[in-house]
Amino acid sequence: MKPDIRELTRPELEAELARLGEKPSHAAAVYLAVHRRKGEDLSSLPGVPARVLAALSPAFSVSPLPPPEKLRVSRDGTRKMLLRFSDGAPAECVVLPAKDRLVACLSSQSGCACGCTFCATGALGLRRSLTAPEIIAQFEACLKQADGGLSSLVFMGMGEPFLNWDNVERAIRILSDSRGRHFPQAKMTLSTVGIIPVIEKLAASDLKVRLAVSVVAAEQEQRARLVPMERTYPLRKVIEAVKSYCAAKDAHVMFEYILFPGVNDRPSDAALLAGLIGGIPCRVNLIPYNPPGAPGGETPRVKEFQRELIAAGLRTYLRPEKGGDIAAACGQLAAERS
Ligand code: SF4
Repeated sequence: MKPDIRELTRPELEAELARLGEKPSHAAAVYLAVHRRKGEDLSSLPGVPARVLAALSPAFSVSPLPPPEKLRVSRDGTRKMLLRFSDGAPAECVVLPAKDRLVACLSSQSGCACGCTFCATGALGLRRSLTAPEIIAQFEACLKQADGGLSSLVFMGMGEPFLNWDNVERAIRILSDSRGRHFPQAKMTLSTVGIIPVIEKLAASDLKVRLAVSVVAAEQEQRARLVPMERTYPLRKVIEAVKSYCAAKDAHVMFEYILFPGVNDRPSDAALLAGLIGGIPCRVNLIPYNPPGAPGGETPRVKEFQRELIAAGLRTYLRPEKGGDIAAACGQLAAERS
């Protein structure tokens, strides 16, 4: 099977054109045609000379971007889509309305191997990682639902993006390319449970994306019960990597803290969290737990916890629940149990 031309970053496509004896500068027109104009026939791409197409056609294919198989719309306007790829692997993506903005939440994998005990995706296990075109297909599906365009993009759907880094990085570079969708990297956020080697790679890279780290719980044993990856990459070491990342990039990060009533929302938990991340340029996103298949939401303790963090000098944001009625809220994506 011929490789999909949509997998290539523009420098890679330029190199391929040079190898085929064509001018690398034709890559810009090819990119525009397959990414922005969604050309799917390599023998007739608009704006690309016939000779260049004749050189590319025997070497590459263009896989069609699958349209959503299902669309569910929440009472609050959240839209969740299920895409199914050629081998049947499903992935969900979500468009979240937030004030006057629309945020696209994409999946990086079909399922997830991390097994976080509170997460519906984790319960599915990993089917496979998604390719860059499959990630881009979700972006296109979200864009179609966003009349006024998308304001930002988060990798917080199914999967751990840092365990599919090659394809996620590729998708970021393609989506942000000026001849692709030209979506700013600074408006993309990658959320990880703390895969330290990739945090280090990101720190050393030229990417301008934003980093979010799922703390979930600050106490080590408790976190290990909720986030098994704690046993491989302990939070304390993750935080050291985050400090180096902030210094290298002159960036701030987001820490995500899911509040489980009666489990990790005690004043001592707030103090422990503040002690761990105090001094890091950051904001803490507080997320009231959404049990899969049941309405979750804010308890009075959530606001108190937020006040305790603020008193300890941290910037916080209480993330309002979105899409709970269509299982599109944080931790609920399970590809409709496909
Ligand atoms: S919370 Fe994220 S990393 Fe953990 S199982 Fe769910 S999708 Fe995977």
